[in-house]
Amino acid sequence: MTPDVRDRADRPFRADSRTVTGGAIPEAAWDRALRLIGRADEIALACHVTPDGDALGSMLAVGFVLRSLGKRVVASFGDHHFVVPRLLRFLPGQDMLVPPADYPAAPELMITFDVSTFERLGLLRENTARAREVIVVDHHPSNEGFGTLSLIDSTAAATAVLAEQLMYRLGGGLDRDIAVCLYTGLVTDTGSFRHSSTTPAVHQMAARLVATGLRTDEIARELWDRSPFGYLKVLAAALDRATLEDGLVWTYVTRVDRAAHGLPYAELEGIIDIVRRTDEAEVAVVLKEDDQGDWQVSTRSKGRADVGAACAALGGGGHHNAAGYTSHESVEATMDAFRRELGKVGWSRAG
Ligand code: 5GP
Ligand code: MN
Repeated sequence: MTPDVRDRADRPFRADSRTVTGGAIPEAAWDRALRLIGRADEIALACHVTPDGDALGSMLAVGFVLRSLGKRVVASFGDHHFVVPRLLRFLPGQDMLVPPADYPAAPELMITFDVSTFERLGLLRENTARAREVIVVDHHPSNEGFGTLSLIDSTAAATAVLAEQLMYRLGGGLDRDIAVCLYTGLVTDTGSFRHSSTTPAVHQMAARLVATGLRTDEIARELWDRSPFGYLKVLAAALDRATLEDGLVWTYVTRVDRAAHGLPYAELEGIIDIVRRTDEAEVAVVLKEDDQGDWQVSTRSKGRADVGAACAALGGGGHHNAAGYTSHESVEATMDAFRRELGKVGWSRAG
């Protein structure tokens, strides 16, 4: 008989030796992290600006673990307009969050999650610069390691993978709240287990998380199957002006589009996933005008072009197949610069 996963819902899961192995992070780095965490009373957590599921989920998951170890925990991200994206409001643990203004000015110990560059700390840059120790937990290949200790593994499918490892190494147990946070990171960054980063180990991790009794159907609906009505209208405008040129498909969404339908910036995240399905294109780009009037550029590749390198050259970063940056120029100038950088990374449109 198959046991009901709910029977096991609140039984803490403890790692066996197989869960705490592998990866590119030296054992000495993990050991040092455990020592730094062990001697800190208060730990300040941060993730990148305009957090996605992996950034916020990894941070809150580790927050739960640290709290269970008796630590005082504060968590934040450095946005001027400090709000949790609507898609992620279902995540447990949001009582840990404080706005950047209430964040410790010079934390004894900081841990950052999914933050690939110092700039991505936004308003928390100064706090980070003044922190005594900064542990950087991340999986971006472009991460320069701006902290005092790097737990960076670019082979990890999500920062949530590393957050789970840290949890077991700290002796923490998995419960449903932690699992919801970690699963959200894993499912977001693997594109619902569709991307090439989805290894057997990713599915094994998902199995551990789902065994806590979490509702994958509810999480999926929260993340991908809900939008305000205005989204349909803004999406229509964006798709209507989509342009296909020589292996590249691109479009843009203005502040005016959003204002006409009362749509917050954060609701635009899914548009790239529709644009990138274009068969004729190897690379997809969506320019999203934020509330400050800057363009947040989302780029995706199907594998032949390294958009991470192109975006890094333009002041941003990301992964080979998913990357982004901020542009202060016009749509035309932004696209000209992107085409130029894409040309330099030498991808083939054929095939
Ligand atoms: P998205 O298009 O979903 O916003 O971002 C795709 C990927 O690119 C994510 O992994 C994200 O971390 C990275 N990314 C997006 N915008 C920026 C940026 O402005 N700077 C850097 N360094 N990475 C970015
Ligand atoms: Mn990530």
